[in-house]
Amino acid sequence: MAGIYVHIPFCASRCSYCDFFSTLRLADVGYDYVEAVIAEARLRMDELHGEPVKTLYLGGGTPSQLPIPLLERLVRGLRDTFGLSGLEEFTVEANPDDVTPEWCAALLPLGVNRVSMGVQTFEDDILRFIGRRHTARHAVEAVSRLRDVGINNISIDLIFGLPGQTVASWTDSVRHTIALKPQHISAYGLTYEEGTRLWRQRERGEVREVPEEQCLEMYRILVDELRSSGYEHYEISNFALPGYHARHNSSYWDSTPYLGLGAAAHSYDGRVRRYNPHDLQQYIDAVMAGSVACEQEELSQWERYDECVMLGLRTARGVDADRLRTEFGDEAWRHFVNEASRHIECGHLHVVDGDRYVLTRDGIMLSDTVIRDLMWDE
Ligand code: SF4
Repeated sequence: MAGIYVHIPFCASRCSYCDFFSTLRLADVGYDYVEAVIAEARLRMDELHGEPVKTLYLGGGTPSQLPIPLLERLVRGLRDTFGLSGLEEFTVEANPDDVTPEWCAALLPLGVNRVSMGVQTFEDDILRFIGRRHTARHAVEAVSRLRDVGINNISIDLIFGLPGQTVASWTDSVRHTIALKPQHISAYGLTYEEGTRLWRQRERGEVREVPEEQCLEMYRILVDELRSSGYEHYEISNFALPGYHARHNSSYWDSTPYLGLGAAAHSYDGRVRRYNPHDLQQYIDAVMAGSVACEQEELSQWERYDECVMLGLRTARGVDADRLRTEFGDEAWRHFVNEASRHIECGHLHVVDGDRYVLTRDGIMLSDTVIRDLMWDE
């Protein structure tokens, strides 16, 4: 099986913390861009080696900014190319203020069965400060509009450690989210990325970072509140009601091949990573001239080992030591088991079903350190 990711690099405005590749040029180049993505799909369809496409994910940027006729054109082009008759999960990312009744009504006929919304927090003053266009009320309305048209698989993205956020206000945001009963929740700690507006604000002393200990406390609260509300903590940053794990994202974690279409999209076929250019015009020109302008990198055995360990430990399934031995040999397996034994003694890891190494609750709080120790030191 395989997945397809399509990057939609358009936003109505830029959020202060964001370093994703996106532009404000939808009106100028939106049409050409969609045609280029369809052309790229045709050029690269063989990379899937006939594997059936099970998941399709439109991410961004802000896919919900695409006018409905362009969204329809894109999906029709992808269906004509890949068939998509076996599609099991079709996710579109949305900003809450784009979720109008008209937009919702367009989704089901296109086959969309999951919407992932960047809510980030329910604190309106913070949303305004970080440059989001929506308010808490927009998020609540969006969820109910999606349900009204039959979209019953909704994911909400949250960010903790935002400037001005307190443990109490974060707890409120988590409880607000739970009250909306989304099937899936992703939550990430804020990072200050160089070059962003927020990074410059911190440099000038206009913004104070939330201390690390408080961020950890926010994460603990998130885990406890969601677990006690029936959500499965199936990946460090991801939680789902039973039966609603994100299938597309899970394929990143278990190394299922995926094809990334669009400017700045990545692809992986189990051995080679491909990176599309970050320049919108360069991307469109290259694809329309019939070439795929991606750079590629073949991962070494040890890079693949590191990835397998890092991605595996992030999930509740953990790392399958037998699989490590089969794929990477005895030396890699010995390294892993030796390093893991220290962390088992400290209570950061435990072994499940005989050979799966899984982070404990304490280990999750120290995941960066544990993962680094288990990676290969060349
Ligand atoms: S809407 Fe999303 S992609 Fe666009 S600037 Fe904000 S965080 Fe970045």
